[in-house]
Amino acid sequence: MRRKICGPKPAGAFRRALCALLAAVLLAGSLPLPSSAELSQAELEQERAKTEERIAQREAELKSLAKDKANQEKRIDLLAGQIADMDAKAKLLDQSVASLDKSIRQLTARIENLQGEIADCEHRIAEIRKQKADKDAVIQRMQVELMGRLRNQYMDGPASNLQLLLDSDDLTSFLTMAEYISKVAARDQELRLALEQEMADLMVLEAQENQQKSALNEKLEQVRVDSAELEQQKKAVQADKAELQKEYDKLSQTQREIQTILDSLDKKSAAVERLLAADRKAEQEFEARINALIWAKQKEQSAKGGPSAKGEMIWPVQYANCYISDYFGAPRETGTPHKGLDISAPGANDKTYYITCALEGEVIDTGFERSMGNYIVIYNGLYSPKGKEITTTYMHFRSIDSAVRKGAVVSQGQRLGVMGTTGRSTGTHLHFQIGELSSSGGVTYVDPLKYIQNPYK
Ligand SMILES: [Zn+2]
Repeated sequence: MRRKICGPKPAGAFRRALCALLAAVLLAGSLPLPSSAELSQAELEQERAKTEERIAQREAELKSLAKDKANQEKRIDLLAGQIADMDAKAKLLDQSVASLDKSIRQLTARIENLQGEIADCEHRIAEIRKQKADKDAVIQRMQVELMGRLRNQYMDGPASNLQLLLDSDDLTSFLTMAEYISKVAARDQELRLALEQEMADLMVLEAQENQQKSALNEKLEQVRVDSAELEQQKKAVQADKAELQKEYDKLSQTQREIQTILDSLDKKSAAVERLLAADRKAEQEFEARINALIWAKQKEQSAKGGPSAKGEMIWPVQYANCYISDYFGAPRETGTPHKGLDISAPGANDKTYYITCALEGEVIDTGFERSMGNYIVIYNGLYSPKGKEITTTYMHFRSIDSAVRKGAVVSQGQRLGVMGTTGRSTGTHLHFQIGELSSSGGVTYVDPLKYIQNPYK
């Protein structure tokens, strides 16, 4: 069974529909409230149409703002994900740079060590060279002396030997002298050889030091190459990081822009919400107004000696193929449960189904309201079977019969109008509602099935 309920419907229907009372109430917030007497029927209808349009526009605007917001929120979530990825990437790059820095520092220390070792080496080479120079000087001096002596001996030749001999007192002293000369020459020679050996040793040492120095220089060169390579790598990683930072900045900028859009959407939504709240308040005031009308009628009737409806209530839709599409108390999106009974008819969009008066009474209000559509509120007075003073409300008429005007007395079974889907409604149906006047001065809406039996069972 298709469920037709009182609920939101497309804005177009609102615009087409008119309500005699709502406009005056809704306009109360912005304009001084004119009484119905001050405005012509045409003016009232015009104001009403404007109000209906305004509410519909606001609701549509709010919906579109919410959609925009959802879209922007999706974008911002996506961005947040991308930014988190980038953060992780940047962290890795930072780690890479840190590790490269550490390696470079180690290599720099190694370079300094090697340079120290090379300096030591050079120092030692300088020492060796100094020793060599000293020894060389000694050797030179010795050579010069020896040569001098030898030159003297041999240049003077036999004369000298002869002189030596002649100077000697005897052969023994001559021989001793000759031996002495020979020994001195031999010692000179020995000393010279030793010095030359030392000199050769120093040269070996110098060669070794030079070798070590060149090995150290080679190592130094290699370490410098390694270090330069690491510096190169570091530069590459830093370039990657800079690139990433640029992208990151761009995304952050977009994120800020979206946040600005979101803030402005929130502001717009809040403004529309405020306007809607005012409109909804106006609706509540409308309900309160009907309540006041009911009680005014009750007092008026009481003064006349007590009103009462004759007979028992009858079902308001006299067609056997109709059905109940929604019951009293059913949950609603607005949070307020369903206050009446919804009665639907098959093919009611194209066919005409008349609604009949369930219980006689006086029409205390009729017209159009954005939620109730075309409606009738009847004050029935005391309903003896229940011992309660009641009102009955009919909503969503396609059209209301011209005889059913405010102040008219309608009798049970009388035709009220044609079933429709005006106001907040998703399909052609009658919303039928019974209110009991409570001792506290309010009106309590009760389940109509407590008053009349479901005839479709
Ligand atoms: Zn309903």
